[in-house]
Amino acid sequence: MHRFALSRAGDAAMAIAAHARDPALAFIAGGTDLLGLMKDRAALPERLLDINGLPDMARIEAVPDGGLRIGALARMSDVAADVEVRRRFPVIAEALLFAASGQLRNMASIGGNILQRTRCPYFRDGDDLPCNKRRAGSGCAALRGLNRNHAIFGWSEACVATHASDVAVAFAALDAHVIVRGRSGERSIPFGDFHRLPGDTPQRDTALERGELIVAVEVPAQEAGRASHYLKVRDRQSYEFALVSAAAALATDGRRIRSARLALGGVAHKPWRLTAAETALRGASLDDVEALKSAIATSFADARPLAGNGFKVELARRVSLRALQSAGARA
Ligand SMILES: Cc1cc2nc3c(=O)[nH]c(=O)nc-3n(C[C@H](O)[C@H](O)[C@H](O)COP(=O)(O)OP(=O)(O)OC[C@H]3O[C@@H](n4cnc5c(N)ncnc54)[C@H](O)[C@@H]3O)c2cc1C
Ligand code: SF4
Repeated sequence: MHRFALSRAGDAAMAIAAHARDPALAFIAGGTDLLGLMKDRAALPERLLDINGLPDMARIEAVPDGGLRIGALARMSDVAADVEVRRRFPVIAEALLFAASGQLRNMASIGGNILQRTRCPYFRDGDDLPCNKRRAGSGCAALRGLNRNHAIFGWSEACVATHASDVAVAFAALDAHVIVRGRSGERSIPFGDFHRLPGDTPQRDTALERGELIVAVEVPAQEAGRASHYLKVRDRQSYEFALVSAAAALATDGRRIRSARLALGGVAHKPWRLTAAETALRGASLDDVEALKSAIATSFADARPLAGNGFKVELARRVSLRALQSAGARA
């Protein structure tokens, strides 16, 4: 195992300053992703700064207007069990409960979850094969290699990896914001801008800069919240990452859709919002399956499957439909 020094942060400003000036320092929260990356030698920080003692970052607050503020250090299991999260946004609780295992969810934080790195095996498994995310400029072994689990939207020749977080898909569908604190204060990043597409720089996953700490994720109040659902399809029923997943949230007039929110996981380098489908779904009846299918299809015109994952296109359409119907059953 790579050797490192561990210290504990008690003050956010000092933690941010230390991170900004030392490129070999990494924050550690639950450690469930970072330590795995260190064992795989995909991350080699020399100093770990334990942020678990930072005050006020583990709270889950139900905002009076109907929104939520989830501290970055809140544990996945605590968020999934929170009464207001379950009542206001069941899609968030479901996405968390379908992720990882009970033990991991007890350790893993929300901030760490949305920063987890791809599960592409070429990235995780060693230095022998080309991987631009692991070693910039070395190539992408998955592009013409084993790519059954990889992207069908938004990929580049440099990287075809997918983002692995489940709850990020729910946050994207709900237009959450990531609240980030740096040396010059706080900024609020719309969830859709937080994760990046790979382009020519797949080594960068997010818009986060060095010297920035995620303090919370805020979910705004909205009509489409309670009638929401997360559906995850994977190779085995538990303890597995998504092949394809969908987060759906609806506002309805009776059985007619007034507004729909729909995002996919397992299909791109970031949670993939189906905006064309959302527009086309307005006014559709939840009982008109053909209308729902053709509205969903509008978001698949730019799908570009790889040699090994053509099945994901049809799977993603069906998962979207089923997630919408299940959300509709709660309306
Ligand atoms: C076997 C296994 C199965 C899994 N299955 C799933 C699954 O099905 N679905 C799913 O969504 N996830 C899954 N995961 C991923 C798991 O949810 C993540 O490992 C976990 O959420 C990361 O949180 P953490 O607190 O442990 O992060 P850490 O490992 O502590 O940190 C991860 C990264 O985030 C940075 N970081 C952490 N907190 C902050 C902060 N507040 N501000 C800035 N940077 C920060 C760290 O420096 C590090 O780079 C699985 C993991 C394992 C090991
Ligand atoms: S898909 Fe991305 S992470 Fe996987 S081998 Fe290619 S560059 Fe590396």
